[in-house]
Amino acid sequence: MLEVRKLSADHGQLRAVHELSLVLEPGQVHAVIGANGAGKSTLLRAIAGLHPPSSGSVLLDGEDITREPPEQRVTRGLCLVPEGRRLFSSLSVEENLLVGRHRAATGPWNLGKVYELFPWMRERRRQPATQLSGGEQQAVAIGRALVANPRMLLLDELSLGLSPKIVQQMYALMPRLLETGMAILLVEQDVSQAIRVASRLQCLLEGRTTLDGRPRDFTPAQIEAAYFGLR
Ligand code: ATP
Repeated sequence: MLEVRKLSADHGQLRAVHELSLVLEPGQVHAVIGANGAGKSTLLRAIAGLHPPSSGSVLLDGEDITREPPEQRVTRGLCLVPEGRRLFSSLSVEENLLVGRHRAATGPWNLGKVYELFPWMRERRRQPATQLSGGEQQAVAIGRALVANPRMLLLDELSLGLSPKIVQQMYALMPRLLETGMAILLVEQDVSQAIRVASRLQCLLEGRTTLDGRPRDFTPAQIEAAYFGLR
């Protein structure tokens, strides 16, 4: 279980995340929604150890990992799929996937399992990653995270820049990941997608939580108000 307690994170003078708390349980999708600049990416980067928080803590299975380096968090099963995919352009598809493989990680995922999930990837494994479409690159970024055998997958803007069809495919994957007991922390601007898969919805506005609970407990008008800061 991942727990974030009253986490704050700054960019210089700007407080991007204000005392944010959340709990992520195995087999669950927790969606964090919010407009551009709401603080979603900063939150995920702080959880992954890529942005030092100013205060608050991150706990994994009850253990405080707030000061732990990112590599160690990966070993513990906490993996980030960053916004913009960040594949290595000089590497092939397969080489990009292997970047995610982690010595210490054990679990069901390996290269063969990723190819079972995305059969086209095996056929194109020797191609440079740059020859793939945006959706295909997103799939490779997810595959790269999976070979690290995450228990907690942090997905930043899964649907950004993808066609609706590819977005559907990406979301269709999630139940298969959850079945294995994985937990997913999903950051999205696309609220309708997030609501469909999430068991918990948290909305951020200028770094503060404006709504938090089960998606079915909110009306679309309430979600819209929380998202845009309407009264
Ligand atoms: P987006 O969807 O546009 O990525 P976001 O919700 O992920 O938005 P963040 O990227 O976390 O939001 O940004 C939160 C705030 O921090 C914004 O006001 C943004 O301008 C600021 N910010 C983000 N990164 C930096 C940076 N490297 N330097 C300075 N300010 C930053």
